[in-house]
Amino acid sequence: MISGTTRAAGVIGTPVRHSLSPVIFNAAFAASELDWAYLAFEVPDGAAGLAMAGMRALGLEGLSVTMPHKSAVVDALDEVSADVAALGAVNCVQRRGTALVGHNTDGAGLLDALRRDEGIDIEGKHYAVVGAGGAARAVIRALGLGGAASVVVINRSAAPAEEAARLAGLVGRVGAAAEICDADVVINATPLGMGIVVSTAGDPEPLPVDPALLGAGQVVVDLVYHPTVTPLLAAARARGIRTVNGLGMLIHQAAHAFRLWTSEEPPLEVMSAAAVAALVHRQESR
Ligand code: NAP
Repeated sequence: MISGTTRAAGVIGTPVRHSLSPVIFNAAFAASELDWAYLAFEVPDGAAGLAMAGMRALGLEGLSVTMPHKSAVVDALDEVSADVAALGAVNCVQRRGTALVGHNTDGAGLLDALRRDEGIDIEGKHYAVVGAGGAARAVIRALGLGGAASVVVINRSAAPAEEAARLAGLVGRVGAAAEICDADVVINATPLGMGIVVSTAGDPEPLPVDPALLGAGQVVVDLVYHPTVTPLLAAARARGIRTVNGLGMLIHQAAHAFRLWTSEEPPLEVMSAAAVAALVHRQESR
């Protein structure tokens, strides 16, 4: 029960009402018997600094940060992690005494999902990452640090691709779509698959990867988790290829935030079940 001693955390973003984070974190706090509560705060573009001032004034324990504030929040913090310094983006703010510390747990979230949930060794494998935005950059850096043999970045625009590829260090480079067939693991880090990119002519959303380039032995990962089976994953499955959606990354990036805020081990299964139930409910009420 919420009382005068309940500690508060939350997520800032806009739009934020569809965020699964309140469901995931409140389930985790309840299962861990922590006197904590988590809310979604609709914070307009341009107000990230005000939100951080609010966090200090109200003594919030932690905040998740989502679009469009991931970069803007950096300047309002006292300290940032090495990931944030490299990526210029924050997805988790931790209150440490009076200091606000920025972290980016997206890359570690994907690596945990692959290692812990899927039993995939990161080291020594060849990766193709499609996309060069915030999620791609976090994943590319984590793969480079995690011992990938190569990380080939394929993106619509050249300049962000070059910049993103550098985040993987010596193993990163920009590549062409045709190189997808050489990768052990293919990762879609574009929003294609969410059903939000439609042409004015009403054409169906294009696939981020031509399924003809996919083959047996590969793993296809889609960072999109709603729908849970994206058109890319459906096309890969139809070819008998192993697929992974973005739900594991979502849970594990939240798990990292939970550890940072509470110093406790997160109840991963509870968090995952809560997210799946919310997605099923969302699907059914469409
Ligand atoms: P972002 O920063 O806006 O980057 C989007 C990327 O997709 C850019 O590289 C962009 O290319 C490319 N792109 C966009 N529309 C495209 C199109 N029509 N054709 C080809 N490429 C296109 O977005 P983000 O924050 O990285 O998020 C990307 C996806 O990851 C989203 O679906 C998001 O929901 C998902 N995500 C999942 C998790 C998770 O926990 N599972 C976490 C974060 C994000 P240009 O450079 O050419 O613009």
